[in-house]
Amino acid sequence: MNKRTRIDLHNHTTRCNHAEGTVDEYIQKAIKLGIDIYGFSEHAPMDFDPHYRLSFKEMVAYRDDVLYVKEKYKNEIKILLGYEVDWLPGHMDDRVLKADVDYLIGSVHFIDKWSFDNPEFIGEWKDKDIDEIWKAYFEATQAMAKSGKFDIIGHLDLIKIFKFMPKQDVRSLAKNALQSIKRSNMVLEVNTAGLRKPIGELYPSRELLGEAYALDIPITFSSDAHAVEQIGFSYDLATSLAKEVGYTKAATFEGRDRQLVTF
Ligand SMILES: [Zn+2]
Ligand SMILES: [Zn+2]
Repeated sequence: MNKRTRIDLHNHTTRCNHAEGTVDEYIQKAIKLGIDIYGFSEHAPMDFDPHYRLSFKEMVAYRDDVLYVKEKYKNEIKILLGYEVDWLPGHMDDRVLKADVDYLIGSVHFIDKWSFDNPEFIGEWKDKDIDEIWKAYFEATQAMAKSGKFDIIGHLDLIKIFKFMPKQDVRSLAKNALQSIKRSNMVLEVNTAGLRKPIGELYPSRELLGEAYALDIPITFSSDAHAVEQIGFSYDLATSLAKEVGYTKAATFEGRDRQLVTF
């Protein structure tokens, strides 16, 4: 049997101001868990909502942090450098989009400028039509895919976070977005953070993962860790769901080139 490779590509550092733990602590935990490929994907700088992310000034220091552990632990684990970039038209910056990294994750955290996944602004859900919110979310996701700027689509159905579910079938709401993801040759992450949120499910749901498989969209795995104890969170659940749906390979990146490995 081929060796199985354990991948975890979406993880944060304290530089986003809402995570805990040093890069050394993250990596030591990842090694202990037997993770083979570990990626840092800090919230990229942006001139909007600056408190929840790295600043432009810190980009070099962030890179140095990651390259430092990459070298230090090179015999034990492969470490990758990435960013999680917000899809927010008018606020994306070439210093991020053209950065010398292994991969870019594109994520929709805002509808217009509403931070719909932040508990601070949960009140706005009550003033809006839930189906319209879901529609707007997947339209933004589709636009992000069409832009061709990103390698990985972050938490495909993050919009379900607080369990405000639409009346319409989620598969039909996500259909155009998934087709654009396929056309733009992006990878979908199976992200376990949703299990720690009110929805209590993986991102994406089993039904959307099934749609992605039918479209032959590759996947990768991530724990979206903002704390050392979240690294590797529910990895077995993520891989068993992916296997049930039909997947056997997961994607990893180097210098924005993709490779598939058996998980
Ligand atoms: Zn975060
Ligand atoms: Zn995110």
